[in-house]
Amino acid sequence: MSKLNQTILYLKGVTAQRAALLQSELGIKTKADLLSFFPFRYIDKTTFYKINELKNSNSEVQLVGKITAIKTIQQKKGSRLVAAFTDNTGTIELVWFKGIKWLKDSLKVGVPYVIYGKVSLFNRKFNMPHPEMDLLSAYKKKLQSSMQPVYPSTEKLTNKGVSNKVVRTLIQNLFEEYPVISESLPQYLLTEEQFIGKKEALLNVHFPKSQELLAKAQERLKFEELFFIQLQLLRKKLINKTKIKGFVFEKVGDYFNEFYTHYLPFNLTNAQKRVLREIRKDVASHAHMNRLLQGDVGSGKTIVALLSMLLAIDNHFQATLMAPTEILATQHFNGIKDLLGELPIHIELLTGSTRVKKRREIHQQLENGTLHILIGTHALIEEKVKFKNLGIAIIDEQHRFGVAQRSKLWKKNMLPPHILVMTATPIPRTLAMSVYGDLDISVIDELPPGRKEVKTVHRYDSNRLSVFKFLKDEIAKGRQIYMVYPLIEESEAMDYKDLMDGYESVSREFPKPKYQISIVHGKMKPADKEFEMNRFVNGETQIMVATTVIEVGVNVPNASVMIIESAERFGLSQLHQLRGRVGRGADQSYCILLSSYKLSEEAKTRIKTMTETTDGFKIAEVDLKLRGPGNIMGTQQSGVLNLKIADIVKDTSILVKARNKAIEILQDDPNLEKSKNSAILKTYSELQKTSGLWANIS
Ligand code: ADP
Ligand code: MG
Repeated sequence: MSKLNQTILYLKGVTAQRAALLQSELGIKTKADLLSFFPFRYIDKTTFYKINELKNSNSEVQLVGKITAIKTIQQKKGSRLVAAFTDNTGTIELVWFKGIKWLKDSLKVGVPYVIYGKVSLFNRKFNMPHPEMDLLSAYKKKLQSSMQPVYPSTEKLTNKGVSNKVVRTLIQNLFEEYPVISESLPQYLLTEEQFIGKKEALLNVHFPKSQELLAKAQERLKFEELFFIQLQLLRKKLINKTKIKGFVFEKVGDYFNEFYTHYLPFNLTNAQKRVLREIRKDVASHAHMNRLLQGDVGSGKTIVALLSMLLAIDNHFQATLMAPTEILATQHFNGIKDLLGELPIHIELLTGSTRVKKRREIHQQLENGTLHILIGTHALIEEKVKFKNLGIAIIDEQHRFGVAQRSKLWKKNMLPPHILVMTATPIPRTLAMSVYGDLDISVIDELPPGRKEVKTVHRYDSNRLSVFKFLKDEIAKGRQIYMVYPLIEESEAMDYKDLMDGYESVSREFPKPKYQISIVHGKMKPADKEFEMNRFVNGETQIMVATTVIEVGVNVPNASVMIIESAERFGLSQLHQLRGRVGRGADQSYCILLSSYKLSEEAKTRIKTMTETTDGFKIAEVDLKLRGPGNIMGTQQSGVLNLKIADIVKDTSILVKARNKAIEILQDDPNLEKSKNSAILKTYSELQKTSGLWANIS
């Protein structure tokens, strides 16, 4: 009997060199790691095809037949070996480019073979390059599992001879040691869900006895993986709720009421009201709020943030709002200051370019409590920034901030402030469940009234002249225009050139003094950026040429056209964000996606999605399918998404089931103390010990 927590060095077939490789390349250290290193596909050798059934599908097939002739063909580039292979329905060609001499001597003409490989059509004839070949007689003896696992590998592993076959053999060796595999799900759950046992599942996921058992094995293992993630997230949320005391914002006081009745320039949408009630309930409850607010661009998150901050101030706490860029922080500051009007609320802005003298003042006012609201960028999470009594921290456009930065805000007090994280990049439900499973989620799913949907079209570069004509017409009507150029870090110099070339050609097309153009990009000094930005905000310029620095949050209601240059180079969520800059006023707005003719399939899908819908959640779903969860959330959260067998995009229903099960179990047994849940508790405790991950989230 072997223990699974042993290093793989104790396993037959593992040399020190292999162990080192398996660890560095695949993260496999222990026997347990190896056991949960799952195949990503299977070679299905349960079916035999006939040659006349072959399709040009580029898929792998298995055939039985005989070689009728072999010949070597000499070519300039080298020679190849070609064999005619036939069953009684037709003939295909087998082709080899390597090992010709040896093969020619060892292949037997007229003897039945089982061959396996990819077929493709060439000159109207099917051929199979480098097939796997077994004599039919030998094949019958060796057949132990008709579905063969294929494991993920790396170039280095392949080069060092750790082939798929080697990995397969190691796992086989491990099973032959009769490892102790304990059941991690309770019997009642297995019965309820008709899951197969853990040992059977592991055996069948590596060496499936049939398609059906493989499916059952995968289902059970995926469920288990997602279930324990959900269990940890939900337990964490439970503990936060019950153990971590939060500040209590008991009353709705004068600041809030005064603002709400006399200063609020519009009626809140129902969605805004609902979210505000959710927040209010949290902050009044003695518990610590940890809430994610999702709302599409333009749905009005800022006002919700402001009202939440007023609640804090009414209860003698300070509030802070952090934004990812200086432009956005500045805009929030100005916007909120305007909204607050005559209200005696002390509000300041702190960014990287705040002067030292001002900075010192702010530090002092924060510490003596005379400053109510601080708005800023990353600058406000620096050590030096200390609050007297920070009650709520709001983070705008959260996906721009790393987890570490968020957690720094926590440490600004003895008790953690209430946290409201706002994001305008809607996160598909399944992803939110996994990545933010420990947060409460509010959604603003309604846009303020009177908004017209932004008309979105795709045009090729060659239509630029007619686009310019359209722009002139819009400007004549008094509208303003954004023109955005891509900025991708790897080729910053090139992008910069594109931007400058673009600026020049736009300047030629739209000459002064009739037209005025602003330009904003990452290489400018903050003060210059702000100057240019302000000219546009104030309507002194009609066109704003910019890189994606304007992507986030910027609000100029009179801007009604968004031109996106080289749209094929932007990601979907970025395109959606950019489009969100227009359509903020009463006028019909437009988004024009310019691209070259050369478009990848993915780029086509992105552009098509943009022209077909303005629904951020739909766009997020497509984005998730195109890019996968890791890329969407960024690397910092990849721990949660680093799944061994389940797939957040494809296994939605299992995920939902796992989450609901975890909720049900925790409701019945919050501390997992009941004896029927002992198997769960054991695995849960082990996971808590090993995964440092959970400490980092939120
Ligand atoms: P986002 O959710 O993208 O941050 P903002 O908070 O910037 O959106 O709001 C977008 C625009 O909509 C702002 O000009 C804001 O004043 C306006 N707005 C917000 N809520 C309402 C409402 N209930 N009715 C009318 N206009 C609103
Ligand atoms: Mg915003």
